[in-house]
Amino acid sequence: MEDFFYQLQEKMTGLITEQTAENLSPIQLLVILDIDETILQFLSTDSYKFWNEVTPEKKLNFDYIDNFKHQQVVLFRPFLDTFFSFVKKYRDRIKIALWTYSPQSYANLISSIIKKHFKLPEDIFLFIYGKENIYNETFPKSLKTIWIDERMNKQFNKINTILVDDRLSNICHNTNYENSILIQKFQPFGMDAKREKLNEKNFETSINDTILIDLIMIIKILLEDFDEYTKVDMMNKEYETYSVFNPQRLQQRPILKKKFINKYINKIIIKKINMNICSLGNISDAIKDESYLFE
Ligand SMILES: [Mg+2]
Repeated sequence: MEDFFYQLQEKMTGLITEQTAENLSPIQLLVILDIDETILQFLSTDSYKFWNEVTPEKKLNFDYIDNFKHQQVVLFRPFLDTFFSFVKKYRDRIKIALWTYSPQSYANLISSIIKKHFKLPEDIFLFIYGKENIYNETFPKSLKTIWIDERMNKQFNKINTILVDDRLSNICHNTNYENSILIQKFQPFGMDAKREKLNEKNFETSINDTILIDLIMIIKILLEDFDEYTKVDMMNKEYETYSVFNPQRLQQRPILKKKFINKYINKIIIKKINMNICSLGNISDAIKDESYLFE
């Protein structure tokens, strides 16, 4: 009889150890980046004239690719190189992806430009999505698209996915708003699709933009918080309860409280629904740009 209990205990311990070892693998964070006005600004042939008017001295302040032949320019947001170095350093913890409202072909083009310019590994982006991957325009960039995708091995969920976007309507629906960061627009040549001259105000704002440093900091805090989950929490699936920026979670998690992540949360009321949205920098242009959301 004693032997039986001993064996049973052995068996159970074995099971627990097995389960624990599996759960000990660190939780990964998926960061989905929008392209335009989030990580870069693109000037097409129509607006190339505004770039031509910029003095060579001023151009030196930007990290850019000037495709003279096609009369197109890509201006990268400051510290994008730092951001990618950070991602590369923590590749076992952070996965990144691109998702634009523009066509897939544009996303692919930008992805190759970025990989070449920043010398990134071929597979740095987990996926590259365009508007073809938006299946319901009422809920643009719905993160459920990722969460139900079997190719992702159920690895990503509301617990460990964030969308970084400058466009409020991509964020302010039920699926996304507690999993998103509304980011200040990077718009040296204005926010209108037609673009405008580089004025002094937009120039100063753009070259002094440190928003991606803040993004790195938020990601670090989120990973630090993931590290705090104990084996017991993991086994009880405790960590799966809330979305990343759920207000209760932000209150309960010691690291998130200690690092004042709450200061990035803004109350935005859209169609009488109170949404607590994490935001970085000045989001007044994002709100102005889509004022119809508040009607
Ligand atoms: Mg955008």
